[in-house]
Amino acid sequence: MRLLIASTNPGKIREYGQMFSDLHLEIVGLRAVGLDTLVVDEPYATFEENAVHKAQAYARASGLTTLADDSGLEVDALGGRPGVYTARYAGEGASDQDRYTKLLAEIAGVPDAERGARFVCVIAVAQPGSEPVRQVRGECVGHVAHAPGDGAYGFGVDPVFIPDGYDVTFNALPPDVKNRISHRGRAAQMILPVLAELAGTG
Ligand code: IMP
Repeated sequence: MRLLIASTNPGKIREYGQMFSDLHLEIVGLRAVGLDTLVVDEPYATFEENAVHKAQAYARASGLTTLADDSGLEVDALGGRPGVYTARYAGEGASDQDRYTKLLAEIAGVPDAERGARFVCVIAVAQPGSEPVRQVRGECVGHVAHAPGDGAYGFGVDPVFIPDGYDVTFNALPPDVKNRISHRGRAAQMILPVLAELAGTG
């Protein structure tokens, strides 16, 4: 089965490829199917609504079984911000570094005990022309570092997030470790049986 990952983010597509490797799916991103120029907004205030909206829109446009996710970082000291707005947190066209630099500046001086945060990932899977959309939510609790950590892995704001149970940032954890404990990894585990069923291998 061909599975479209409704993203142009190479970090996300790579992680899904690693996490679904046992299913022997043909995983493609938006660029591979020529849909990277089709912009589908994330207009809603919840991860669930945005993920479902994107999965349906790209399934319709591609004719493929489509997995979309919406993810972000909820920071306690910011009342849950940036949350669903993480990708747009530092403005259009900002880099990952711009985002985490802004975050560190916003909570500069906040003591360790109040730097709690959680990554959230909602995955929705849609098939063209058929309901219902399946959806799952994964979370990873931790805290925001005081400065970017050194590391060779990951993407996004990984350099400033330390998951509970570890004393290094996400970008220092090898993919197999991050994928086991991350918000996306947890959601992916939950959606595996759905994909296996759709691929006829479940
Ligand atoms: P979206 O899910 O494409 O809306 O993007 C969410 C934003 O959250 C990304 O641009 C990243 O900054 C951040 N993000 C989501 N998941 C991760 C992750 O696993 N590591 C680091 N940053 C992430």
